[in-house]
Amino acid sequence: MPELPEVETTRRGLAPLVCGATVAAVVVRNRAMRQPVPRNLARVLTGRRIDALERRAKYLLFRAGDGTLIVHLGMSGRLWVVAAGTPPETHDHFDLALSNRRIVRLRDPRRFGLVLWHAGDPLQHKLLRDIGPEPLSDALNAEWLYRETRGRSGAIKNALMDSHLIAGIGNIYANEALFRARINPRLPARKVGRARYAVLIDKIRETLTEAIAAGGSSLRDYVNSAGEAGYFQNRFFVYGRGGEPCLTCRTAVKSLVLGQRSTFYCPRCQR
Ligand SMILES: [Zn+2]
Repeated sequence: MPELPEVETTRRGLAPLVCGATVAAVVVRNRAMRQPVPRNLARVLTGRRIDALERRAKYLLFRAGDGTLIVHLGMSGRLWVVAAGTPPETHDHFDLALSNRRIVRLRDPRRFGLVLWHAGDPLQHKLLRDIGPEPLSDALNAEWLYRETRGRSGAIKNALMDSHLIAGIGNIYANEALFRARINPRLPARKVGRARYAVLIDKIRETLTEAIAAGGSSLRDYVNSAGEAGYFQNRFFVYGRGGEPCLTCRTAVKSLVLGQRSTFYCPRCQR
């Protein structure tokens, strides 16, 4: 599943290819995504200039005048650029054809992705307005996490996966950041103090930044916007390593299901 680093890698790859270009045509081959692609999309978007490509959590925001094309990659989506005339394949549901003879193409075999239009401020869209602070921005700080978790009986890992608390960290990066911060994923969130939250935020940023630099993680069929596989998965400390020795202390990495998500940790390093 594309997580924040994959989406940010996609954004960085696409931005120089699309910004400043005008939308020449919109092709929707299958409207049946997680929500239907709006019927009026071609009418509202054609002729508009793409002013900027931004990201909020795992949503890509193509800013176009007073409106925004919002794209989410869902479980299996991939967005990249092909030359005009490149024939679509089976799961290529959406094309944004640009004046510069490039096509931004969405391939999404499982169709959990989204292609939406929002007039006005996209951050006020109902899917985006309640999302917590971006992990790579100063809006996320230890005081915020400390305050928001005082009443939580749930595990710290479940708190990290709550998008109201932090925008879109995702399961892999929650596992990895907790390992680096030496925090047991099952520890109740309300028992984590300010100092440990400060360390955790540092480790979240370190993990995400390294993943973005590596071009996102290449899991299942994810391929980044330039068509190259990322390689961050070779650097996981605990994710997917249940039963294997901890890279720090050689204790066997434990795996369990927490909040319905696979969870991996070292029982010796993480307390
Ligand atoms: Zn260990």
